[in-house]
Amino acid sequence: MSAATIPTLLLNSGHAIPQLGFGVFKVDATETERIVADAIEAGYRHFDGARIYGNEEGLGRAIAASGIPREEFFVTTKLWKDDQGRHGAHAALEASLERLGMESVDLYLIHWPHPGLGRAVETWLAFEELAAQGLAHSIGVSNFRQEDLAAVIEASGTVPAVNQIEVHPLLQQPVLREFQEALGIRTEAWGPLGQGKVDLAVEAPVLVDIAAAHERTVAQVVLRWHLQEGRIVFPKTTSPERMRENLAVVDFALTDDELAAIRALDQGRRLGPDPAIYD
Ligand code: NAP
Repeated sequence: MSAATIPTLLLNSGHAIPQLGFGVFKVDATETERIVADAIEAGYRHFDGARIYGNEEGLGRAIAASGIPREEFFVTTKLWKDDQGRHGAHAALEASLERLGMESVDLYLIHWPHPGLGRAVETWLAFEELAAQGLAHSIGVSNFRQEDLAAVIEASGTVPAVNQIEVHPLLQQPVLREFQEALGIRTEAWGPLGQGKVDLAVEAPVLVDIAAAHERTVAQVVLRWHLQEGRIVFPKTTSPERMRENLAVVDFALTDDELAAIRALDQGRRLGPDPAIYD
């Protein structure tokens, strides 16, 4: 797998994003540099990080040490709850860039809306300033509900480039995704494989059948389904073998019937927090 074969999608900022990347949630800070170096070696160029993951330093070091030009990477980081607000957002991105050892990120996200805090709009207005300063090439949000998206768009006129939400076969969020699509907001699917919290082969044996038909693994079928439905994904693994497995999903295609069978697995079942009450 070469980085060149990973499809890219255009964001509303005019920038392209590799549709398949690598997430570093729960990657131990002491191991991040080595694991990201393995991922770069496997062919990943898009990395999804966050301040709260506590490993921006290792991510930045691995990219710098790769010898590959910075502009060939797509790096995302996210603003945590205690940095919401105008001043907080400016200081938070500055600190993230310092830890990453970078002059800018490709994508900066508000990690959660925290409706009880009520500062998402103020934070978004600061994100517009950060984008205008060139510190974030694209800006977006994560875990926003329709009403959270509507509020920031109404206040600013700027449509987030992405909304990064929990999506996997057991939680597909079709209504929110359709709302986003109509506005030109790309959907990034976090926990695309179910976070290792559920065994999808046991929960959904049809995935095993589809995998057998294509001589692929269940993980590859699920990642392929995300890609064919137009979502951006960045599965996490610490295993170099799985890094390669998760990248090897661009040379086969699921049929319409197979896509429909996976769509039918939706149970509206969250594995992570509910944004409405996550404060
Ligand atoms: P995930 O990628 O769905 O699942 C990761 C789990 O799946 C790990 O336990 C991993 O185990 C296992 N795995 C990976 N590849 C596999 C394969 N080929 N076969 C079998 N098991 C495999 O979950 P996630 O890490 O939570 O989500 C991905 C990324 O989304 C995160 O890293 C983060 O960047 C982002 N995220 C964002 C939010 C948000 O609120 N915005 C929340 C959660 C996650 P091993 O590591 O042992 O291989």
